[in-house]
Amino acid sequence: MKKTIKFFGQVMLVICVLLMANNVFAAGGAVKSPTGTAPERYVYYPGTEELKNDEIRLIACGTGLPAARRDQAATCFLAELGNGDKFLFDIGTGSMTNVAALMIPYDFLNKVFLTHLHTDHWGDLATLWAGGWTAGRTGPLRIWGPTGATKDMGTAYAVGHFLKAYNWDATTRNFVLSPKPGEITVKEFDYKAVNAVVYQENGVTIRTIPAIHAGDGPVSFILEYAGLKVVIGGDTFPNKWYIKYAANADLAIHETFLTPPDLVKLYGQSPGQALLVGTQIHTSPQAFGKVMSTIKPRHAVGYHFFNEQSTHDDILRGVLETYTGPLSLAVDNMVWNISKEAIVERMVVSPDQAWSVAGPNKPPSPPAKGTVPDPITDFIKAGRWEPAEAAQAEMIKEFKKKYNMK
Ligand SMILES: [Zn+2]
Ligand SMILES: [Zn+2]
Repeated sequence: MKKTIKFFGQVMLVICVLLMANNVFAAGGAVKSPTGTAPERYVYYPGTEELKNDEIRLIACGTGLPAARRDQAATCFLAELGNGDKFLFDIGTGSMTNVAALMIPYDFLNKVFLTHLHTDHWGDLATLWAGGWTAGRTGPLRIWGPTGATKDMGTAYAVGHFLKAYNWDATTRNFVLSPKPGEITVKEFDYKAVNAVVYQENGVTIRTIPAIHAGDGPVSFILEYAGLKVVIGGDTFPNKWYIKYAANADLAIHETFLTPPDLVKLYGQSPGQALLVGTQIHTSPQAFGKVMSTIKPRHAVGYHFFNEQSTHDDILRGVLETYTGPLSLAVDNMVWNISKEAIVERMVVSPDQAWSVAGPNKPPSPPAKGTVPDPITDFIKAGRWEPAEAAQAEMIKEFKKKYNMK
C-alpha cells in the first residue's frame, strides 16, 4: 500500500514537471542571454516561417462589417498551402492593408475566390487590382465567383462592369505599364451547384455549396489539401448544405453576427431591422453554436462582427448556449496553422509601413513607344510650367548617368 502511494506521488511529480515545462513553452520560453536571440514569441512574423508540405496557414485579413473601422477590415481570408499555392477568399473593403502588410509578392496573390458580391466581400478588389499592378504583379488576376439568379447579378457581370468603371484608371496606366497585369479573368460557376468542384490543381480541390443570404448567388467554399478540410462560410444563414458538407472539417469558418440588442445599441438599427439582419439574413450566436456542435469541426471560427470586449462577451455567451468545442472569435490578423497534428492560433505581427516585395518573375516591359495612344492632349501638355523642368534637370542628369540611360 505504502509503495503504491509512493509510486503515485512520483507519477504526480512527473506530471507536474511536464505541465510546468509546457507552461514555460506557452509563455514564450526562457530567455537565457541578454544579447542572444529569444525563443518562441508565440506570434507569427510573416516571411519567417517555412510551411510544411502538409500544412495550411490561414490568415484573417478582414473580419469586420461593411462600415469602416480602423481596427477591423471587411471579410478576407488568405489561405497559404504547403505546396506554395495561395488563395484569397473574399477581398472585403479595407482588407488589402492587412494583406499588403504580409509583404507577399503580388504574383503569389493572383487567385481570388468570391463568396458573394456585397462590398464587404469584394470592395477592396480595386486595391488588389491597381495596387498589385503598380507594385510588381506580372500577369492577370484570376477570379472565381458565383452566377446570380439573372446574368446581371453574377460575378462575370460585376467584374466586367468593375473594369468599365475603372476605364480611366486602366487607360492611363496602360500608357506607362504593361497592360497584362491589369487584366482580370473570371471563372463563373453555378451558385446552385452542390459540392461541385470549381478548382482542382496541384493537389488542391475547392468545392462550392449554396449559401442563404440576402438574395440568390452567395456560396460557401470547401478547400481540401493534404487530407485537410477548411470551410470558408462567407455569409449565410445556417443551411443544410453547410451541415452536410462542412461536417468533420479541420477548420470551419461560419459567420456569427452581432446580437440583436447590440445591433440596436451600437449599429443604430431599429429593433425590427436588428432582428431581421441578426437572425434571418445572418446567423445568431446561438444558431452558430448549433451548427458547430452538429458538424463537430476540429476548430470552429466565428467572424463578421466588430469584435471588442462587450460584443465578444455577448456573442460568446450566445455561442456557449449551444457549443462548447474549440473556438476562435476572429479579429483581423489572427492566424491558424493547420496540420494533422495540431491547429495553432496566433496573431500576426506585421509592419504598418510595409513595402511591396519583388517575386521570382521578371516584370513585363511597358508598351513600346507609339503603340498606345497618349492619354494627355497637347492642350493639357501646353500648361506645363517650365521652371519645374529647369529645377529638376541636374537631378535627372545624375540619375540617367547612374543607370546608363540616354
Ligand atoms: Zn453579405
Ligand atoms: Zn458580409
